[in-house]
Amino acid sequence: MKIIYSILLLSTLFVSCSKNLVTGRKQLKLVSESELQGMAETEYRTFLNNHSVVNSSDSRTEMVKRVGTRIATAIKKYYDGKGQPSVLEGYNWEFNLVESQEINAWCMPGGKVVVYTGILPITQTEAGLAVVMGHEISHAVAQHGSERMSQGMIQQLGGTALQIALSGKPAETQNVFLTAYGVGTNLAAVLPYSRNAEKEADKYGLYFMAMAAYNPEVAVTFWERMEKNAGSTQPEFLSTHPSDVSRIAKLKTNMPQAIKYYKLAVKN
Ligand SMILES: [Zn+2]
Repeated sequence: MKIIYSILLLSTLFVSCSKNLVTGRKQLKLVSESELQGMAETEYRTFLNNHSVVNSSDSRTEMVKRVGTRIATAIKKYYDGKGQPSVLEGYNWEFNLVESQEINAWCMPGGKVVVYTGILPITQTEAGLAVVMGHEISHAVAQHGSERMSQGMIQQLGGTALQIALSGKPAETQNVFLTAYGVGTNLAAVLPYSRNAEKEADKYGLYFMAMAAYNPEVAVTFWERMEKNAGSTQPEFLSTHPSDVSRIAKLKTNMPQAIKYYKLAVKN
């Protein structure tokens, strides 16, 4: 009943199923990208205030900022060249490293990135970190979070609350936002990305890291290490980014194109 009500409500709201510029796929969007970027601005600040941010003079932080900036610059150059600068409309990149044992990283809309120190032993090298950051940044520019958030709003809030949430942005909207972007620490509350979204983030993550002149071949060994690391306790990142044989096989099919981008980037 709740679902039917939601669907009825949705049809009267400003629902749009818009085509994503990066993936070309149509997505459910209940909240506009600019609205999400506004929320991200607030939530990012709150998150940083409540966590231990690693000093900017630390060499690990420098690496996170360097990788992020290189990937962001490469994406901008690529979409400017394609005549699609609007892919990064409203983006104001920030890259921070947070002291935490969690194996995790995420990127909020508008380019607000956090890497947890807990993932660094698995990324191992700068190119390994570029795999993770390229992947997370791809989720953001392909607007997977807003898609997941729209689905989360329908599932968790139901009809009436959805209407209130959309108009007033109360605590419930904030909650769905945090779970949609993998920021929540409660694993049960974290919404995993769909398989489609994962495939897209793997593919574009690979291309973007290559365009930033990081060797994309590193991605295969990174995901193999992630899988091994899972062990008995499922790390946070892995629970929302399930690694499997088909993922690694798929990565290999995207590799020739990624290597072309890499060679071109290294030459320039
Ligand atoms: Zn992912």
